[in-house]
Amino acid sequence: MATNSHIIAIPFPLQGHINPMVQLCNRLISKGIRVTLVTTFSISKTLQNRTDENTINIETVPDIDSTVNGGDENLDIYEVFIRNFRASITNGVPDIIRKHSSSGHHVKAVVYDSVIPWCLDIAKGNGLRGAVLFTQPCTVCSIFYHLHEGNLEISSDEVGFEVSLPGMPVMGLKDLPTLVYDMNSYPSLLRLLVEQFSTFENADWRLFNTFDKLEDEILKWMSNKYPIRTIGPTVPSMYADKRLKGNYDYGLSLFKPSTESCFQWLETKEDRSVIYVSFGSLADLTEKQMEELAWGLVETKRNFLWVVRETEQCKIPKDFVSERGLIVNWCTQLEVLSHRSVGCFFTHGGWNSTLEALCLGVALVVMPQWTDQTTNAKLIADVWRNGVRVKCDPNGIVSREEVVACVNEVMEGESGDVIRRNAVKWKEMAVEAVSEGGSSDTNIAEFAEEILRT
Ligand code: UDP
Repeated sequence: MATNSHIIAIPFPLQGHINPMVQLCNRLISKGIRVTLVTTFSISKTLQNRTDENTINIETVPDIDSTVNGGDENLDIYEVFIRNFRASITNGVPDIIRKHSSSGHHVKAVVYDSVIPWCLDIAKGNGLRGAVLFTQPCTVCSIFYHLHEGNLEISSDEVGFEVSLPGMPVMGLKDLPTLVYDMNSYPSLLRLLVEQFSTFENADWRLFNTFDKLEDEILKWMSNKYPIRTIGPTVPSMYADKRLKGNYDYGLSLFKPSTESCFQWLETKEDRSVIYVSFGSLADLTEKQMEELAWGLVETKRNFLWVVRETEQCKIPKDFVSERGLIVNWCTQLEVLSHRSVGCFFTHGGWNSTLEALCLGVALVVMPQWTDQTTNAKLIADVWRNGVRVKCDPNGIVSREEVVACVNEVMEGESGDVIRRNAVKWKEMAVEAVSEGGSSDTNIAEFAEEILRT
């Protein structure tokens, strides 16, 4: 598409951050904006499905290992990853901006993930505007905002701990993001999330992957502080609104899906009979937990499609067999969730998975693992009520009996009816938000208009 309005998009290079950025970019492209997505050479090598020339242009910057000279040996793997990514992007992006400007495709703005707020300096340093994209729910982001502002004191004692923050439900300790109540677990990641707000007030646009009706109160609270725009759920338009046809793509996957085997198998199953089980791109369950989950799924006596990433497969019990189950390394999740045979989603509660299920009206069993998933689980089970949250035993393990009980709760009886009705209600509201004239659709249109006018 011939256009003079051009943006650089910089996602944080994890699957859960790449997907919403790519979908936002697709929407901007449909409004006539040219998009160049930048990542490092090493990340680009692992991307499975590249977009075609009519969609997102991908450019890479050379990888820089910032820790080789005088590196601190105590850095955790995330810290190394974050520092190297920052060095590579900071070094490489200005050249990309210059290259495009000299070829007539002047870059107008940089759209960057909220966890890499230093991208705003790259934008401003090159005379561009900056749009920050938050890829976690506004509720979770606001918790980190309170930490950044020094407004939140955390006790290490779970008993009797309750926190009541503006615009949010009252939360117990373990409803907060794990990085908040277990501050020593991943200090580099905690810093990353708190630092999201370091350049927040200087950004030209603040975009949130959520929608107005979903997080009504907290969004109002946040927008009283700063102008913000909801642009979610960033689910490809064909899923969010079946009336919209045409250009879309699934995004850029860091994993190779087993598409054929999944759909051949799903096709043989009855409507709403399958439990779809996935813990996203990062979760790392213990062997004991995998064992309980595996046998719990068998004991539900239902069909299940279980995504176990290649690196996790060694944790499946050696003697595990199931006639009713199919295990795959990775799948095209949106396609699976929209399949008629899927009856519920047993999930870690990652924000993308949550929004995707919500958009497709699929009821959830949430077994949160870390970061925002605990808070997402709280919202799902107690606020939106489109799913249930598992309970752990005193050792932090979800037993096989609990797996069975939770699946039954969402798939049968009166409780299942109520949860499914709520799931359908939220689906309608999500679709409304991203359909023509809906709140998120209007916000994206306005954002695009402002870029086109710059
Ligand atoms: N996903 C996928 N295939 C799978 C499992 C996950 O395409 O087999 C996608 C899923 O649709 C979602 C993303 O990977 O968009 C996972 O993001 P989420 O925020 O749910 O979890 P994270 O991986 O960040 O923990």
